[in-house]
Amino acid sequence: MKTYIQYLEPKERPTSFYNIIPDIEKYLKMEIPPVLHPATKQPVTPNDLAPLFPMELIKQEVSREKEIDIPEEIQELYETYRPTPMIRAAQLEKILDTPAHIYFKYEGTTPSGSHKINTALVQAYYSKKEGVKKITTETGAGQWGTALSISCAHFGLECQVFMVKTSYQSKPYRREVMRLFGANLIPSPSNSTACGRKFLEEDKDCPGSLGMAISEAVEVAAQNDDTKYALGSVLNHVLLHQTIVGLEAKKQMEKFGEYPDTVIGCVGGGSNFAGFAFPFVHDVFRGKKIEFLASEPEACPKLTEGKYEYDFGDSAGMTPLIKMYTLGHKFMPSPIHAGGLRYHGAAPLASILKNAGMVRSIPYPQIETFKATQIFAKAQGIIPAPESAHAIKTAIDEALKAKESGEKKVIIFNLSGHGHFDMQAYADFLDGKF
Ligand SMILES: *Cc1c(COP(=O)(O)O)cnc(C)c1O
Repeated sequence: MKTYIQYLEPKERPTSFYNIIPDIEKYLKMEIPPVLHPATKQPVTPNDLAPLFPMELIKQEVSREKEIDIPEEIQELYETYRPTPMIRAAQLEKILDTPAHIYFKYEGTTPSGSHKINTALVQAYYSKKEGVKKITTETGAGQWGTALSISCAHFGLECQVFMVKTSYQSKPYRREVMRLFGANLIPSPSNSTACGRKFLEEDKDCPGSLGMAISEAVEVAAQNDDTKYALGSVLNHVLLHQTIVGLEAKKQMEKFGEYPDTVIGCVGGGSNFAGFAFPFVHDVFRGKKIEFLASEPEACPKLTEGKYEYDFGDSAGMTPLIKMYTLGHKFMPSPIHAGGLRYHGAAPLASILKNAGMVRSIPYPQIETFKATQIFAKAQGIIPAPESAHAIKTAIDEALKAKESGEKKVIIFNLSGHGHFDMQAYADFLDGKF
């Protein structure tokens, strides 16, 4: 019998996160561009960030330690749902009739149904430890809000979620999931913040965006001492926590007896791509050869068409300035179903790798990603999130290229989440509505 799925023994499970920063400084011989204060344009200090984030996360954000221990309590929590499986997409290979071997890491098996809970738990843990009472955040498609709601429920924290209005309206069950876990949900832009009221004044029918929802959540956290803000992607510490995904995947591939030629992930803010890819980038710095492919929507192609420059993380220009590939903080992506990819910028650390020529990005029209995902779903019996569909499209295209060239490539991708709450999107696809 062949092996199609790998987990990990307890002693094989990662006990620390991989911090790529020291490797970037050493192997790319560069300094990480500092984050700048929005008013003074000077590098921010930990004190500038203290109103928004727990101090331990601020420390992780700038840490130069190569490995950062996973707190024992978090290791225990991970133990309740990790490792997520690494699966050989054998039926897909058969249907595509490709000599390539395709594997995927399946983050849809987590309690929240996506990779986001990996960092939500850590962020809630440090907030609780530092006496925080309430966490505010934004959510697009709802996966981040769900992950943070579960994590806040676990640690007994209040959770306030500004949900992008289009998603709030189009994903009623996501909404109820978050309410079930006790979150206080507000469609964004809303009347409950000054910046929300300003967005509504400019356009009362505004569908909202992640950038706007971030502005609202940040405003609430900045104004309340017992409240912190949590971000589901982009920041260094978020990518750091997500390396749990790639660290496991690397060991699981070892158990399969294979090593990837191609590593693929979709990019919203960049956390699932980075978390999956960075532990392999570690090897590339030390001589391995891997192609890294970042899949993004044509409607929001930050890596492919964005500029590599300083920009705000939110729409109102309240956050610090970060150097990243960006379409501009005022960019308003059309309301595609992959709500989690509707963010104007890509994580600074992922942007550095793109700028260094280590990552290639590929933009897709929405319809192509759904077509690819239907092929995958029929083959493997899994319904992916519309975000993950982008990575699947890339994996299938690469496998078909390998078929033409006869290459026995090993292709791995991150299936960042399941699509069980995205059935309206699939209905629209099947009904030919886009
Ligand atoms: C949020 C999300 C994404 C995009 O965010 P990244 O930070 O780029 O990973 C991708 N897939 C799923 C399932 C998501 O929930």
